[in-house]
Formats: sequence, C-alpha cells, structure tokens
Amino acid sequence: MNFESVSSYIKSPNSQITESPNSLCLHIARWVVPVSRHPIENGAIATFKGKIIDVGPASEIRSSYSADIKDHGDSILCPALINTHSHLELSPLKRHFSPSSSFVGWVRSLVEARDQIRAEDWVPAISSAIREMRKNGIIAVGDVGNLDIIPLFFSSKNDGTWPFSGIFFHELICPAPNGAEEEIFLSAPFVNGKINEPMDIPRPSFHYSFSAHAPYSVAPSVLKAIKAWDRSHNMPFSIHVAESEDEIEFLQGGHGPLIELMKEKGHWPLDYDLPKVSPVRYLESLGLLDRHTVCVHCVQVDRDDIAILAKTGAGVCLCPRSNMFLGVGAAPSEELYAAGVSLALGTDSLASNDQLSIFAEMASLSEVAPCLPPEAIFRAGTRGGAKALGISGEVGSLAEGKNATFLSVESGPVGVKEVLEFLVHEGYKKLGYWIIG
Ligand SMILES: [Zn+2]
Repeated sequence: MNFESVSSYIKSPNSQITESPNSLCLHIARWVVPVSRHPIENGAIATFKGKIIDVGPASEIRSSYSADIKDHGDSILCPALINTHSHLELSPLKRHFSPSSSFVGWVRSLVEARDQIRAEDWVPAISSAIREMRKNGIIAVGDVGNLDIIPLFFSSKNDGTWPFSGIFFHELICPAPNGAEEEIFLSAPFVNGKINEPMDIPRPSFHYSFSAHAPYSVAPSVLKAIKAWDRSHNMPFSIHVAESEDEIEFLQGGHGPLIELMKEKGHWPLDYDLPKVSPVRYLESLGLLDRHTVCVHCVQVDRDDIAILAKTGAGVCLCPRSNMFLGVGAAPSEELYAAGVSLALGTDSLASNDQLSIFAEMASLSEVAPCLPPEAIFRAGTRGGAKALGISGEVGSLAEGKNATFLSVESGPVGVKEVLEFLVHEGYKKLGYWIIG
C-alpha cells in the first residue's frame, strides 16, 4: 500500500474553508444553533486560538469584545456533525451491492467481497470516503474495523492530516474463544502488546478502543472481556444490536438463517448456551449496558428492551439509511426518544449505504419517524454522537471551551420554528463551508 499519497487526498477538501487569524474573532450570522441551547437569531460566536470563548446574541457579544468581525449573512452557524458509526475499511465496496432483503445473505456476500478487495484499492477508496465525510460536514467518527487497514492508514502520516476526532473501534468477532479471552487483546496485530497506552496517532482526540461485532457473533466471556477492557481504559464500548429479525430468531430460539452461516464458518455448535432472550436483555444480563455503551441499530427492540436501554443509560446509534438498504426495518426511534434514550446517528459503511452523510441520515430519519422533533434529530447528529463517543468536551455543540470548528449552512428567511427543521431537511443541500476559528 502506498500511504505516501494519503495526505494529498486529505489536504484538498471539496468544501471551502474560512479560517480566522490567530486572534480574537467574532462570527456573526442570522442564526446560531448551539444545540446546547435554543437557536439564537442574529447570533454571534467569539473564537480565540481554536476555541469558542462565548456564544450569544450578536449585540451582546459585540459590546463585550473588540475583535475582527466575520459576517456570515443569512447563514446558519451550527456544530459540525458526528458520524458515530462507520466502517471506513469497507469503502472499496462502494456500489458493490444492491439494496437487499436478506440480512444473512448480505453478510455472506459482504465477507466474500471483502476478502477479494485488491491491495491497491484501499488507499484511494478510504481517502475518497474521508473527503466525502469532510465535504458533508463531519468532524468526528466512531469508526469500526476488524482488519488493520485504518490504524495503518492514520499512523502512516503523523502530521495532522487525519481529519477526525473520535474513536477507532477495533472490532472483535469471536464466537468460540476456547478459554483464551485474556490473549485476545495481546494478539491484536497493531497494538503490539502496548494495550495500556494509546496508539501513536496524529490527533490527540482520536482514541482507540475495542468493540464487539454483535451478540450472536461473540461468545459471552469475550463480550465481558471487551467491555472490561473498555471500562478500565475509560473508553466507550460499541456493538451492533438487534439489527435484524434473523438475530432475534437465533438468540431467542437457536434457529433461522444465522445457524447456516455459523455452520459454514465452522462455528456451530457453540460451546455455550444461547440466551433465549432478546439481544438487549442478553447484554443487560452480562452487565454490558451503561452510559458508556453504544448500541448500534436497535431496529428489532420491543417496549421492554427500550425500558432496559433507558434504565441503564446505554446510548443508541441509529443508522436509518443502512437499515433501509438492508431491508431490516426501521428502529422505533420515536419510542426510544420518548423513553429518554440518548440517540446518535451513523452512516454504517458504503457496503450498506450509498453515501456518508449525517445530514442525509437526518433527512431519512425524519421521514421514517415523522413525530420525532427536528431538534432531537439534529441533536442526534451532533451532541448525541459526541456524548456516545466521549468527546462532548470538544465537539458536538457551540459553547465556551469547545473547538472553534463549525459549519455555515446557507439559509433563506427561516423563523425560529423552522430553523432546526431546515437543517434536518435541507442541510445536506445547503452546507456552505467550514469555519475554523
Ligand atoms: Zn456497522
């Protein structure tokens, strides 16, 4: 692989960037949407040396600070977006699959196609995916991978050209541990045994964690070992949960098409008993659900599952466009929101989505969940994602102390009731440029 070419891909984002000088600067606009508080009409953001130092009505901020003023006119200034669940390593499979109606069939095809990716296709495909995310206003990712492609990718250039904050989740698939749980982390190819230290990565806010693929593909002892590692390193734990009916059928009854797949891979019979309960109840029984766990998908959850998620504080990352692509249904996001579950948004990979855009996920979510308030949807794509990834001290909202990197979205004359609706429905068409204060 030629990693020398990586930086040139990343250094030429398609979207325009406006940078502030390294001095105090006031960004004023018709609307400022901090997310952590109500939208501010005729608002302002004061920035200094890469940090936000104040947010409020332009009249107040202007009288408080003597500074350069950048007037963004009728635009909406809002936080950059968080893609809480992606798989950049699957980017070479863009447009490889058509929308599916068989989850297990898609998994089978995915494994086959992934094993045939040519070495020379990784860097251009991943670089293109990164450019796409930046163009779509994404500042942080929770990227999942079980090959060593992405860690090699971002450690090959330690010069700040990796553009995202967030987490790389090293995903484990391990249906049969054979009693060697403690060896799993040591055998990870790119950790080299230094599991107590963060990886040598370009951005201090990009962290490393372990995740489990799914309740059906990882043995219970390994699930607990992964969560224990994440807990002891103060890192979030991520897992695909209740994505398809096939998963429910397998865990609850020990039958269905996942059995055939397990047999094909030589993982059947299992050396442990299936839980005979829902995936959410199973994870709860293993002690895996808490505020630092991100349950990805949660399409096939019932009222009891939602109550468990709310009670434990576990977050849910919705991936509406991927769910649609795979024909697995739509998550009950309105019920999850009503129960007080913390929501985030993810694109999943280009093997089950045709674009990497959180704005597009927001628009899709509003279609499948028309009663979900636009402020809840926009929060899922910003502050909710930052919370899920443990980076809300840096990104996800516009507030004092946060990174001064945010978005300008072109808007017409929208009122206070429409501004969030406008972002959710039109944001993906109207993203203007990045602002780096
Ligand atoms: Zn996924």
